[in-house]
Amino acid sequence: MRLILLGAPGAGKGTVAKMLTAIDGSVQISTGDILRAAVKEGTDLGKEAQGYMSRGDLVPDSLIMGIMGERLLEDDCKSGFLLDGFPRTIPQAEALKELLTKLNIELDGVVNLNVPRDVILDRLTTRRTCEDCGAIYNVKSNPPKVEGVCDKCGGKVVQRDDEAEEAISKRLDVFNEQTAPLVGFYEKEGMLWDINATSSDEVVATIKEKLGIA
Ligand code: ADP
Repeated sequence: MRLILLGAPGAGKGTVAKMLTAIDGSVQISTGDILRAAVKEGTDLGKEAQGYMSRGDLVPDSLIMGIMGERLLEDDCKSGFLLDGFPRTIPQAEALKELLTKLNIELDGVVNLNVPRDVILDRLTTRRTCEDCGAIYNVKSNPPKVEGVCDKCGGKVVQRDDEAEEAISKRLDVFNEQTAPLVGFYEKEGMLWDINATSSDEVVATIKEKLGIA
């Protein structure tokens, strides 16, 4: 499958993407994960992205398109991909359209995960992430077995810098201003699947139905 996952921070894009990869071997491509890895490794890309990210601002489109232009050429994308957190602005969506045409790749659809704002806020403030493997936990609904230690890899489970209260409300504002307009963009393209997304299992079931997978 080749899908874009749209939705506010905390809408469940990452969780849904991980569940979908298990179905047919499509890869999850998260620009957020790619950027966080670059920050951790201290690469030039990481140094450039770090300030924007910790403030809850978007990284410039040119940097993101550079990353994605290379990523979509990698071999593992041939079995399908789930774009998680990209595109995030209209210029990124336009550039992606051009890139996909050039690469002769057709998307199945664009999934819009619709989640009420109060649910989003609660999820984000209680979310914790493994520094090493990116596994996602929740202090209320899904804590790691040992506090602060990842069940999967033994890495450190932490609250992301940009998940402090202040950065979260900034990220939600940025989302409403810059990313929410993508819903209209993809609606016009006739590609939008709007899904009410309070349960990830239901979201995955709806996507499978639309793709015609039993
Ligand atoms: P979220 O949980 O908000 O979906 P991500 O992990 O996708 O967070 O992204 C974290 C941060 O990385 C964003 O706040 C932004 O600074 C940067 N980022 C990720 N993807 C993009 C993108 N497509 N365009 C611009 N900035 C991005």
